[in-house]
Amino acid sequence: MAEMTVQVVTPDGIKYAHRASMVVVGTPDGEMGILPDHVNIISPLTVHEMKVYRVDQEQTINWVAVNGGIIEVKNNQITIIANSAERKREIDLDRAKRAKVRAERELEEAQAKPHSADQVRRAQVALERAINRINVGNK
Ligand code: ATP
Repeated sequence: MAEMTVQVVTPDGIKYAHRASMVVVGTPDGEMGILPDHVNIISPLTVHEMKVYRVDQEQTINWVAVNGGIIEVKNNQITIIANSAERKREIDLDRAKRAKVRAERELEEAQAKPHSADQVRRAQVALERAINRINVGNK
């Protein structure tokens, strides 16, 4: 059966590399499932969990918190470039919960201030990252 390779690259290096029979990522249009022989594409990614169905370990799904970025699908090679990404086993849940509380507070403060659209957006994205990490950490 045809298969794909999937690699997640961040400024910390290659955070994930495996062979997959299916990969699901979050895009601005919603979740996208990628099967072998998918058409070549480049797409932005949202802050969302990535689900990888492993070829070498049937029944095993790997979860990765992908914090936005870009995906390229080309000739059964999937490359994800993100500012940060963590595998489920790497996630420090307490840290993510603290980040969520902090982001919620920052969001509330920013929303109460005039001319703070940038600050609101930054807090919203920090909150999305924290929630994504908590979701993946709890899988
Ligand atoms: P925090 O406020 O907790 O630092 P952050 O969203 O600001 O979170 P990032 O700037 O996105 O953090 O990431 C900085 C580095 O820390 C990256 O290498 C990222 O993978 C790692 N990281 C962030 N949060 C966690 C977490 N909860 N568990 C494990 N690694 C994390």
